[in-house]
Amino acid sequence: MDAILVLNAGSSSLKFQIFAASGQELTRQIKGQVDGIGQRPRLRAFDAGRKPLVDLAFQKEEVPDLPSAIDKAGAWLQSLEGFHLMAIGHRVVHGGPDYAAPTVIDQPLLDKLATYAELAPLHQPNNLLPIRLAMGINPAVPQIACFDTAFHRHHPALADCYALPLALHQEGVRRYGFHGLSYEYVSERLRETFPDRAAGRVIIAHLGSGASMCALLNGQSMESTMGFTALDGLPMGTRPGQLDPGVVLHLIMQKGMPAEAVSKLLYHEAGLKGLSGISNDMRDLLESDDPRATFAIDHFVYRCALNIGALTAALGGLDALVFTAGIGENAPELRHRITDRAAWLGAKLDTAANDAGAPLISTPGSRISLHVIPTDEELMIARHTFRLIAPAH
Ligand code: ADP
Repeated sequence: MDAILVLNAGSSSLKFQIFAASGQELTRQIKGQVDGIGQRPRLRAFDAGRKPLVDLAFQKEEVPDLPSAIDKAGAWLQSLEGFHLMAIGHRVVHGGPDYAAPTVIDQPLLDKLATYAELAPLHQPNNLLPIRLAMGINPAVPQIACFDTAFHRHHPALADCYALPLALHQEGVRRYGFHGLSYEYVSERLRETFPDRAAGRVIIAHLGSGASMCALLNGQSMESTMGFTALDGLPMGTRPGQLDPGVVLHLIMQKGMPAEAVSKLLYHEAGLKGLSGISNDMRDLLESDDPRATFAIDHFVYRCALNIGALTAALGGLDALVFTAGIGENAPELRHRITDRAAWLGAKLDTAANDAGAPLISTPGSRISLHVIPTDEELMIARHTFRLIAPAH
């Protein structure tokens, strides 16, 4: 069967999915990943019915890094029979100022995307690696880059700028925004399920280990909480979110911290992990009775509420609030607390629906509707890839 492979290569995991393409339909066939790279590497994959297809644990020396993880996953994928690979779709975190849509990859594009690595050091180099490897192994298979920034590229100029000299903006110091593939998918789902809401003023809260919010007007991104890099906005698992740049100056100039140490602090040691001193994982914090865990959760909820206020101002009001990603989809307590703080906007939570994780979690009398929509960035990538290589569809 004709198939599209979707790859999402991160620092500690390589996620892959295979979609069968038939007519206009894309159907997920396989979902897998190599996780625990360099720690406790494990290759696992499941078929569409969640039946395990492979489960292999490796010594950490066998899979110390992403290239070796790609090797292991690649060998297993190549052993599969019955798939004709039409194309590979990649999640690429940064498309810089130039790429506002998924793009077919060639060498010049790859070179250009490599220049954005400093804008997203956690993700971009990892995202590009499997593209290079696949180009070497099978250059005839088209590869498509789907950018996390693309969805926001048409946001208003007001939202694109920092109050810095314009020359910096022209050099690319802009408020790009991220999680675009998630927002695009969730907003399409909202349009399918609640079209009148999707046509209005919507905030989507993508609350996972990376967390951000996006303000949408009729499905278009108008504003988002992330900016030049994925450090800005909400507190995250290990990133602080919004921070006075004076803090960074203080760390470097007064405390004498090298830039690399500041970067490590901001990307890996801050956020829920830094604040609680316990864990970057919301589940651990929710289970803990340590006051530091409680405070970290309180802070997360507070910053979410503040940002809902800011994005509502960007939209001039609010019609719907949608929760997605790990925390947004799975933590009713967090949804409860965040929506309580949005009561001034007229948000009224249906607690039973919320506890059940229903698609609509507001009461009929709620002025804004509240939703839970599981995200599916990989399906979004597969759709884009399919559209680009088979434009007739
Ligand atoms: P990523 O940004 O890595 O894709 P996810 O969207 O998968 O992240 O979100 C991962 C986070 O979601 C975890 O770190 C955890 O904090 C949170 N999470 C997942 N399930 C639950 C749950 N049942 N309750 C609370 N938090 C959860």
